[in-house]
Amino acid sequence: MDRFIPLSIPNFEGNERKYVDDALKQGWVSTGGAYITKLEEQMAEFLHTDNVAACQSGTSALHLSLIEAGVLPGDTVIVPALTFIAAVNPVKYQFANPVFMDCDESLCIDPLKLRSFCEDECEFDGESLIYKESVVKAVVVVHVFGNMADMEAIMDIAGKYHIKVVEDATEALGTCYTDGKYVGKFAGTIGDFGAYSFNGNKIITTGGGGAVTSNKAETVDHLRFLSTQAKTDSHFYVHDEIGYNYRMTNLQAALGVAQMEELPEFIDRKQKNYRQYEKEFEGYPFVKLLSFRKGTLSNKWFYSLEIDRDKVSVPMRDIILALEKKGIQTRAIWGLIHLQKPYVNEDTYRIEKAVYYASSILNIPCSTQITSEEISIVSNEIKRLLEELANV
Ligand SMILES: *Cc1c(COP(=O)(O)O)cnc(C)c1O
Repeated sequence: MDRFIPLSIPNFEGNERKYVDDALKQGWVSTGGAYITKLEEQMAEFLHTDNVAACQSGTSALHLSLIEAGVLPGDTVIVPALTFIAAVNPVKYQFANPVFMDCDESLCIDPLKLRSFCEDECEFDGESLIYKESVVKAVVVVHVFGNMADMEAIMDIAGKYHIKVVEDATEALGTCYTDGKYVGKFAGTIGDFGAYSFNGNKIITTGGGGAVTSNKAETVDHLRFLSTQAKTDSHFYVHDEIGYNYRMTNLQAALGVAQMEELPEFIDRKQKNYRQYEKEFEGYPFVKLLSFRKGTLSNKWFYSLEIDRDKVSVPMRDIILALEKKGIQTRAIWGLIHLQKPYVNEDTYRIEKAVYYASSILNIPCSTQITSEEISIVSNEIKRLLEELANV
């Protein structure tokens, strides 16, 4: 079969070539140049925030956020169990200890368990929240697949217990509240820090890249300073802090500026394609297309099918391989992070739902270029296969 419908591929239908060529012509290819500043301005305008620092990856954006949040060796950071490991590894870069938290039906961190963890497992001394003699400095909140986590509840808990909120919005650029306390606010601009990623599979890409924002403009200036080797005086090489080589390059930013121009169109297409999938699977008994939080407009980056495990119990691997043979690329959700080798000895808190979702979610093709005909093919092939594999 020569048909191949990919899970998610980048889209370069705009000014990408023009701007990259321009950056090459100018000779500004590294960590200085006008495209970097331009991208930061575009993002700040789009996100209705004052200041954004472009960096090398979503992972570096998260690391910088934890540093700025004051996470030190021995501190505790609350993290989701069901996520991509890059959301958790920066905790270890700081020699801090993660505590793994469960998700709820949104696949994002469960605010009820977060609250009961803080209430029942920790002590609040009026200043800090203490867990086993360690200060709980931060919580990393991932907006999974573009779905907004319950920021109203999370900010309330974090405020009460003096915990910094690092939003991992690497999958949620463009997701915003349309209702409630945070109406008009974008994922990544509600907590203390917000991290974005422009890796090849994200809604916009710079090849590899990321950005970080904060609710205080001066804080973002400091993050940018740390990302460029912390040059207190760049002419005479004076450094008063430990810096990092985390700055985005102008070549990457040239791609990013073109991608930002297209972001609204990409989100439109993701919305439209999601609506078609919704129709295709409506009333179909073996799967449920996961929905997005009420009162928000999601960027609908990824589409997830929850397979009814009472009806179809074969391993996810069999489903994915069978679809691959039909030229359809799909993926399982991540392996749970607390079960990964570097994390098996870390603390967890009542992880239940994450275990269920880890075995029942199938992500289906969601590129912005996918055609309506392809969406029908994918849907019909999935339905046919699940009927074939259904328990009898
Ligand atoms: C992609 C991603 C990251 C990391 O971003 P990079 O740019 O690849 O470093 C972190 N967290 C989540 C949830 C992601 O999906």
